[in-house]
Amino acid sequence: MTASTDHVPADSVPDEGEVVTYEVRGRVAVVTMNRPRFRNAQNSVMTYALDAAFQRAVEDPDVGAIVLAGNGDHFSAGHDIGTVGRDHHVSYENKAVMWWDHVDRPGGDQRFAREMEVYLGMCRRWRDLPKPMIAMVQGACIAGGLMLSWVCDLIVASDDAFFADPVVRMGIPGVEYFAHPWVLGTRAAKEILYTGDRFSAQRAYEWGMVSRVVPRDDLGATAMDLADRIATMPQFGLALTKKAVNQCEDLMGIRAGMDSVFGLHHFAHAHNAEIGSGPLGGMDATSMKQHGAAVTKKAGEQ
Ligand code: ZN
Repeated sequence: MTASTDHVPADSVPDEGEVVTYEVRGRVAVVTMNRPRFRNAQNSVMTYALDAAFQRAVEDPDVGAIVLAGNGDHFSAGHDIGTVGRDHHVSYENKAVMWWDHVDRPGGDQRFAREMEVYLGMCRRWRDLPKPMIAMVQGACIAGGLMLSWVCDLIVASDDAFFADPVVRMGIPGVEYFAHPWVLGTRAAKEILYTGDRFSAQRAYEWGMVSRVVPRDDLGATAMDLADRIATMPQFGLALTKKAVNQCEDLMGIRAGMDSVFGLHHFAHAHNAEIGSGPLGGMDATSMKQHGAAVTKKAGEQ
């Protein structure tokens, strides 16, 4: 780095290269978030690039399983609420198509439309992809990062991985993809929500949220080995099996629960907007700082 860029804050420098990379290793598609400078904070361009990569893996008959990874020290520090690449105001072609485009809408119409498409809609779309997905998690996996790991069927974590949903600090009852009671159990869900604290990979494993905890050096090999073994199973049988478990999880209330909580979530956003905590109703980095929570670029040091 030259002297002239030494004092440029990291979050004012654009991304380098593709925000999501795609490669096929044997019968496994490896989809990697690639904004390491921003701890893989998810902006819309990344969300749509992830969607395109997953779709490519689904359409390739030679791909049997998908590994979702994050480049750098952290899996994902959450949704992009403060980097130079934040693009919540940019229109993209809707893919989840659960609502209309949000960009030119006012007030709650904008928040609801955006979150229905980019957050809840996309996560549900990915959770129901017909091929098994394994999240490979190291470092921070916070808020929107947690949502991404939860839509995967299995989570392999390194022993230095840590998880958190701190958005109650913004006055909001958890992230949009409200899977907490189903993936953690109700008491653990309440603990991590009420405190906003980080929880370790080991605790997540004990609660049943994480499938394997391994040393950081073994993370890639463990995730790939699991994916390789799954990918050798009959493809149609795997797809039906995934659908079977997901249907049962829906019958256990996850889908209806998320729909009802989404209403509370948006009531909280509306409340924040009404009392004047920013134009996004508490969805920006300033509000997070005011509430003492980790902002995107700081999540690693939370
Ligand atoms: Zn929200």
